[in-house]
Amino acid sequence: MPVERLEGRYTGRGQAGQEDDEDEVRRGVLLTTMDKAVRWARKQSMWPLTFGLACCAIELIATGAGDYDLSRWGMELFRASPRQADLMIVAGRVSQKMAPVLRTIYDQMPEPKWVISMGVCASAGGMFTNYAVVQGVDTIVPVDIYVPGCPPKPEMLMYGILRLHEKVRTEGHFK
Ligand code: SF4
Repeated sequence: MPVERLEGRYTGRGQAGQEDDEDEVRRGVLLTTMDKAVRWARKQSMWPLTFGLACCAIELIATGAGDYDLSRWGMELFRASPRQADLMIVAGRVSQKMAPVLRTIYDQMPEPKWVISMGVCASAGGMFTNYAVVQGVDTIVPVDIYVPGCPPKPEMLMYGILRLHEKVRTEGHFK
C-alpha cells in the first residue's frame, strides 16, 4: 500500500500561506484552550480506587466487569494504591471504626480528586440509624456526587459517574 509523503507545507516548514493553513484545518487540526484540554483529559482518564465497604461493593464490582465495561471511559484501572487514584467511590455503609481509615486513604490520594457516595447507607446511614454507623460520609470527606438506592444498580452508578465527568469537564479551572 503506497504511503503518502507529507510535504513541507503540511508540517509548517514550507511556503505555507493562508490556503495551506485552511487545508490543514480541514485535515483535522483542532484548536482549543489549555484549560478545556486538561479538563477533558482528566475526565477521560479517571482512575477509581479499589475500595468497597459493604453490599454496595458487589454492584461496584459488577460495574467494572465486562457487561458494563467502564473502560469505555478510560476507567478500567481500579488502583490498589490511593496514590495512583483520583476517584473514591464509597460503596456501602461507613462504620465509625472505618471512618478514620477512610479519611486517611482520602488524604493519600493526590489532587485533584473526587468522591462518589454510592447508596443510601454511604450518603445518609440508610437503615443503620445507630451509633455504630456514620450518618453520611460527607461528614468525613467532601462528596461530589450522591448515587441513591439500596443497592444502586450498575446503571445508576454509571449515570453518577457520567454526571461527575460532566462536572469535571465544565466546572472550575485546572491548577
Ligand atoms: S445501601 Fe443497601 S446495598 Fe448498599 S450498603 Fe446499604 S444496605 Fe448494603
